[in-house]
Amino acid sequence: MSSKKVKNSDKSTAEKTTNNGDSFLDQTLRPTKWEEYIGQKHIKDNVKILLRAAEERGHIPEHILFYGPPGLGKTTLAHLIAKETGKQIKITSGPAIEKVGDLASVLTNLSPGDILFIDEIHRLNKMVEEILYPAMESGVLDIIIGKGPSARTIQLDLPPFTLIAATTRVALVSSPLRSRFSGGVFRLEFYSNEEIAEIVKRSSKLLKVKLENEALKEIAQRSRFTPRTANYFLKRCRDYAQVHKKTLDQETVKGALDMLSVDGMGLNSGDRRFLETLIEKFNGRAVGLKTISAALSEEETTIEEVVEPYLIQLGLLERTARGRVATKKAYEHLGFSDKIKKPASSSQGGQNNLL
Ligand code: ADP
Repeated sequence: MSSKKVKNSDKSTAEKTTNNGDSFLDQTLRPTKWEEYIGQKHIKDNVKILLRAAEERGHIPEHILFYGPPGLGKTTLAHLIAKETGKQIKITSGPAIEKVGDLASVLTNLSPGDILFIDEIHRLNKMVEEILYPAMESGVLDIIIGKGPSARTIQLDLPPFTLIAATTRVALVSSPLRSRFSGGVFRLEFYSNEEIAEIVKRSSKLLKVKLENEALKEIAQRSRFTPRTANYFLKRCRDYAQVHKKTLDQETVKGALDMLSVDGMGLNSGDRRFLETLIEKFNGRAVGLKTISAALSEEETTIEEVVEPYLIQLGLLERTARGRVATKKAYEHLGFSDKIKKPASSSQGGQNNLL
């Protein structure tokens, strides 16, 4: 199998430094102990029980699925579980497993007790998925040899393994696949500002950055309730402070994040353009995903997975049966308060939901 399709978690420093900045940052700042993994208490409590019970029974932990927007800590949880169980973690992703043979190769190369982490599991194709079912349930690999009437199935026993999967689109994971995660299906929540502040504090220590308290709060407030974004902003602010020879106080953070076009609520230019398009171009009408995606020349998946969850969380967007609608709060935040009371013209076939 090609080394691209699956990788071990222990990367050499050289390998790390050749990665792009974001994944390098993820690895440097990734918590390595449960105590360092802030928030998501419900998940941590459940997973710890699951691991402990499995250990006491002398079994390997059951399969687990994590879902939620990107950057909330799904991969980190998989690494922590591997650490806790003292087993190796092998990492791959839905799009990397194109053929049945790819999955067969990944599974037969596992050692007993290994953790197999499949990111973006919603992107596995149907044929691959069907091979995964018996592997998850009964620890066997069904291989069909030959074609037509002479085709026959042979069954290979696999080493026992725990599958940990992650997805940003749980609705796209078929229900037969979902039901095979016998250890649980867990949804990661957005973080509170206090939790994000705690994460940034830890990261600033690791990066040896001196950060004033107000600066910490400012980063937390603009970080989309997402640890990866918070860590990214911290790094950008550090660069900005270094180049401008400033201390990292609230003003510096504001300067750095304004330069990145991130406003006080954490909206970036893409988020604002999305809301402005709903308000101005569609005059406040409910708009379907396809239409807004075409209007913005933005992929539907990016809109659904990255842009909308945060706007909904902030109460700036509503998904109604008829489509997406910007809320009153969005009008106010973007300086369109004057438009709130104006009814949308009836010739445009909709009505302004705000009224
Ligand atoms: P996902 O797999 O959900 O996209 P990751 O697990 O890769 O997200 O997390 C991205 C980065 O955010 C991690 O490298 C880590 O530095 C940070 N992070 C995520 N969750 C937490 C957490 N609960 N506590 C501290 N840092 C976190």
